[in-house]
Amino acid sequence: TDRDHRWVYPFAEAPASNKTLLGGKGAGLAAMTAAGLPVPPGFTITTEACVAYQSHGHHFPEGMWTQAREALKSVEEATGRTFGDPENPLLLSVRSGAAVSMPGMMDTVLNLGLNDETARGIARQTGDERFAWDAYRRFVAMFGEIVMGVEAERFERVLERAKAKTSGGRDTDLTPEALQEVVAQFKRLVFGEQRGVPFPDDPEEQLRMTIAAVFDSWDNDRARAYRRVHRISDRIGTGVTVQAMVFGNMGWESGTGVAFTRDPSTGEKTLYGEYLLNAQGEDVVAGTRTPKPLAQMEADLPDAFAQFREIAGRLEAYYGDVQDVEFTIEQGTLWLLQTRTAKRSGAAAVKTAVDMVAEGVIDRETAIRRVSPEALDGLLHPTVDPDAEVTLLAEGLPASPGAATGRVVFTSDDAEAQAASGEPVILVRQETSPDDFHGMVASQAIVTARGGMTSHAAVVARGMGVPCVAGADTLEIDAGGGTLRANGHTVLAGDWLTVDGATGRVLLGQVPTREPQLGEDFHTLMGWADDVRRLGVRANADTPEDAQTARDFGARGIGLCRTEHMFFGDARLAAMREMILADGPGEREAALRKLLPLQREDFAGLFRAMDGFPVTVRLLDPPLHEFLPSLLDLTGRIAEIKLALRHADTLEDMDRLLDDSDTARGLLRQVERLHETNPMLGLRGCRLGLLYPEITRMQAQAVFEAAADCKASGVDVQPEIMVPLVSVATELKDQAALVREVASEVFAERGTEVDYLVGTMIELPRACLTAGQIADHAEFFSFGTNDLTQTTFGLSRDDAGRFLSTYVDRGILRADPFQVLDQEGVGQLVRMGTERGREARPGLKVGVCGEHGGEPQSVAFFHDAGLDYVSCSPFRVPIARLAAAHAAL
Ligand code: ADP
Ligand code: MG
Ligand code: MG
Repeated sequence: TDRDHRWVYPFAEAPASNKTLLGGKGAGLAAMTAAGLPVPPGFTITTEACVAYQSHGHHFPEGMWTQAREALKSVEEATGRTFGDPENPLLLSVRSGAAVSMPGMMDTVLNLGLNDETARGIARQTGDERFAWDAYRRFVAMFGEIVMGVEAERFERVLERAKAKTSGGRDTDLTPEALQEVVAQFKRLVFGEQRGVPFPDDPEEQLRMTIAAVFDSWDNDRARAYRRVHRISDRIGTGVTVQAMVFGNMGWESGTGVAFTRDPSTGEKTLYGEYLLNAQGEDVVAGTRTPKPLAQMEADLPDAFAQFREIAGRLEAYYGDVQDVEFTIEQGTLWLLQTRTAKRSGAAAVKTAVDMVAEGVIDRETAIRRVSPEALDGLLHPTVDPDAEVTLLAEGLPASPGAATGRVVFTSDDAEAQAASGEPVILVRQETSPDDFHGMVASQAIVTARGGMTSHAAVVARGMGVPCVAGADTLEIDAGGGTLRANGHTVLAGDWLTVDGATGRVLLGQVPTREPQLGEDFHTLMGWADDVRRLGVRANADTPEDAQTARDFGARGIGLCRTEHMFFGDARLAAMREMILADGPGEREAALRKLLPLQREDFAGLFRAMDGFPVTVRLLDPPLHEFLPSLLDLTGRIAEIKLALRHADTLEDMDRLLDDSDTARGLLRQVERLHETNPMLGLRGCRLGLLYPEITRMQAQAVFEAAADCKASGVDVQPEIMVPLVSVATELKDQAALVREVASEVFAERGTEVDYLVGTMIELPRACLTAGQIADHAEFFSFGTNDLTQTTFGLSRDDAGRFLSTYVDRGILRADPFQVLDQEGVGQLVRMGTERGREARPGLKVGVCGEHGGEPQSVAFFHDAGLDYVSCSPFRVPIARLAAAHAAL
């Protein structure tokens, strides 16, 4: 029964390895307590209690409160203080902590247990009135915000006004009397008559209300939004940790800070962090005061620093991973408040993983697992071109690497709205809070005027791989007026800025950026990944430059060359239109003859760039109208000519305009003739080659001639010709025969032979169902999961954007199926197609070339389904390599 169930664990009795039960914070505190480190005593209420609370109509499960009071007694014994005792009061912190870290998403209340009497007691005991009232005002504000739901800004405003009256203007300059007045004003804000709720003077009542509020905070909008983005279950609940307070705000021998055992941006092996003297932890985390670098602590508090450095080393060794540690110093004594695995940039993830293998802390497999494929995205991000001329607007902390340009917005709502209309935006804020999450997700980069490396903006941006400059304190932001001033410049909302998250610079205008240089550690780790993965990784590339980039990123071949991209550019497009508008095969062949040498050159470039690796060339795929002007453009053009004719002065002008008009009308007739109601399901893919075999012939000829030429000059060429959009085996049979015929002709004519394959895309449900028959004619399959997703769902990719996000928000779909493969539906077809294909042709080579080929979850699925390779865009190649290694571990 609930009553007998254990809901509460004192740190010393808690099962430290059970993060699911205790939450990350509770588990870390239990582990540190067990290791004999200085941790203020306390206890953790389990995540199970939170889940029970949610399902019991927001009531504590039976027995929980009794157990909590029991545990509180042991805290009283350990500290020698009593909760609520005016002579010797114990103050508590009430902290939330789920099994999965959700930075800044949940709420914490400090200094709980204060009322007028206990505050006076603290003042008497410490002989420090200022301290007592400072703690009190913090408590009323946090309780007011978190438990009573009053906006934090209101408290800020009262405090700002009080600070403005002091000589120094800092919160440490407030006198006890001034603080007392602040407390009174805070109380009026929260418990004013119109609210009808009295301030709970009873500390037990305070505790009960706060625990309930922490449980409730699990369900607030920002926590839910965070969980949705990070795909965290709503059902796991948060633990609540109740702990004796230690005071970093007890004078100038006291302080509080956050430190990483290694630099979270670069991975450098140095203790890295920030701290504030005479402050409580919230001051650092909330970014309300810009903290000092940890190195300064060595000078300010050398003993505490030395002790901390030693403990940080032990914590890292104990966990075998970089730790993010929160600590407080109370009058020279060090206390540890939290340890957790540090979030880090992609670069730091790679460097620490590789370094720790060299240090003998972890093995290679662990190192591979430590780096999430998505994290590489941050590493592959561009940097500001070092040769570019730049105008510095402001400088702050390099909080999250990467460079981006965009237009300035001052609110998260504006960021979201403008990003939705396709504008790249830079979110500029005084500081960010969890309420800004939606704007941060929508932004190219984030800039804050206040806060440090561990401020909300910095932590969230690093997690998302978005560039961020934090604490650029020379920025004068007038969000209401829509202006930004610094360094003698004024920037308006909508103006361009460039953010250099790697150096912390905010630059005026659109500064060119440079593609990333990947270091030795990156190549080392990728090498290890290559050793363990089974899946091959190729790239989708249409130009020799893309092919080279892909090869540099480790692609072993091209899995998809979309030949249609080769027909853009003036000369090519003209020839292409000639081909489309040709009257009969004779004229068409003449036009194709113009395209042949251009195509041959394209393919030769790709073969040379991929020397030694296969190059898969897909025959022409899109509907032909894509190469013609649109109906709208043409009717507009004809109307223009008509108008011009009316005003024509000379006969020559008139003649010329009449000619133009004839051409335009001819084109219009052709466009009308080619018009399709639903071109994606119309005359495209192999259907084109069946109706116009000349096109297939020309493309095959270009491929084989290029291959023969390259082979003659010593290049190892491995062409693979791929027939798109096959649904009936006979379509492939026909096109494959044509390709082979052309191959023989070219080889005979050139007096050479090149090994090649003819295969097909599997991108229609019927192709998956009849994959056995298709495999009779295919030497390889490549799943085109974009079209396969469209046709399986009956969902047009170009039109679905409008409502897919609603589907995802409402949980109808877990993710956008065009980004993350729908394993239950589309994935079944992939499995079926692979199995049936290989039954008919054992050892059939099977790959995938849709967007999903570079998406880690989908890559894991393709590994399981037994595919031979994935193919993705060049910049996703390292991500696919690492994802394939993860799948194989
Ligand atoms: P978060 O999950 O947002 O990091 P925490 O529960 O860690 O929230 O609390 C926020 C800050 O409050 C911490 O950084 C810490 O400095 C301070 N804090 C928490 N518990 C105590 C305590 N027992 N004594 C002093 N400060 C505390
Ligand atoms: Mg914390
Ligand atoms: Mg397709």
